[in-house]
Amino acid sequence: MKIQKPKGTDDILPSSIGKWYYVEDMFKKVCEDFAYREIRTPMFESTDLFKRSVGDTTDIVQKEMFNLEQRVNPGSKKKPESFSLKPEGTAPVVRAYIENSLYANPQPTKLFYITPCFRYEQPQEGRKRAFHQFGVEVFSSSNTYTDAEVISLAMEFFRRLGIDKYLELRINSVGTAESRKLYSEKLRAFLQNDYEKLCDTCKDRFHKNPIRIIDCKNEKCQEIANGAPLMIDNLSDESQNNFEELKKNLDLMGITYTVDPYIVRGLDYYTDTAFEIVSNNIGSQSTVCGGGRYNGLVEQLDGPLTPGIGFGLGIERLIMVLENLGISFPEPKKLDLFVISIGEKADPVSTKIVHELRTKGVSADKDHLKRSIKAQFKYADKLNSRFTAVIGDDEITSNSIVLKDMSNSTQEKLCLDTFTKDFFDIIK
Ligand code: ATP
Ligand code: MG
Repeated sequence: MKIQKPKGTDDILPSSIGKWYYVEDMFKKVCEDFAYREIRTPMFESTDLFKRSVGDTTDIVQKEMFNLEQRVNPGSKKKPESFSLKPEGTAPVVRAYIENSLYANPQPTKLFYITPCFRYEQPQEGRKRAFHQFGVEVFSSSNTYTDAEVISLAMEFFRRLGIDKYLELRINSVGTAESRKLYSEKLRAFLQNDYEKLCDTCKDRFHKNPIRIIDCKNEKCQEIANGAPLMIDNLSDESQNNFEELKKNLDLMGITYTVDPYIVRGLDYYTDTAFEIVSNNIGSQSTVCGGGRYNGLVEQLDGPLTPGIGFGLGIERLIMVLENLGISFPEPKKLDLFVISIGEKADPVSTKIVHELRTKGVSADKDHLKRSIKAQFKYADKLNSRFTAVIGDDEITSNSIVLKDMSNSTQEKLCLDTFTKDFFDIIK
């Protein structure tokens, strides 16, 4: 039986890679303009890293982790380590920030990443088991300007892609860990009578972390949570103040938003600012970007007391939005020249020409399969080459080569000896 790709994964083929290059280059440029620098972390980490950061009661840790088969050396008495493929980008970056003492550099530390993520989910449109994220993280600033900067970076990225007006920025404050404790009590009191009707996961959450119930995708649980007290009405004065300041900073930058008190976020580590950027044209998986502040996280992972904030942005969902809106992607770079050779003598000459042009940074190709001249022309056309050049025995005798501009079918005879230099001048 033929082996097929695992459920919930996609191959990104050459025919669509141009879209990926386009958004990746755009994201890198925006990050550069905002003075963020790239970090790359391993594809897998200790399972404990995610348990201790993302949180034991989250969907990600409870249901969605890809744990790796453990390898134990024969005879070893050591307990096997447990590793997981990264389900998200923040925890690994925090781990790297601590492990590499990035806190010793001038602060704040402003980082971005482009990473694959893995979650064991029920695959559907916009929800994959292997997907990709853009993300940023900023450490060591609790200034609300930083919250607004992080949000503005995402919005600027969407503006440059021409889709900002089709997206909605929703913000909320989820308060501090202390105020969430008090709020959790209120929430328990509200949910108590419906406890038996909650799904099994939420029954567990009721005891450990009732706020998660608000984020449950189960309809029954959503119904029960409807009308529950809201975190935003239970903030400390400081959190309330921070939220007002965030809004002021966004106003200063001319960024429009709505306050959505139901944003909880799928991860446990958020404090104060939480936000989502939502599209209404990609069906039910509508959140393209989500993020927030995580002031206790670095400390929770045994690092120094360090505030942090960041976001994750789903690249597959982003490309879906661009496609659904009919946004045109730039044409991938065309092949500059396809050399068509006829006969035994011409073939090595074509090899030399193609190689020389490639070393000058010109994209060039030739026939690999000993095709007929007609088939070579057809193939050059399929490759969408800007020019073709033809050499046969006659051209070698007369030290010439025929260059054809494929856009208008005009052709000219050039000197074979100086061809690579002349061609370079023609296309530069
Ligand atoms: P959702 O509520 O849709 O499950 P989430 O809260 O789990 O999203 P985050 O952990 O905040 O998502 O991840 C940031 C972004 O990554 C999401 O907004 C989304 O665009 C993307 N994303 C998350 N999970 C997936 C997935 N399984 N497949 C594709 N993209 C995803
Ligand atoms: Mg999720």
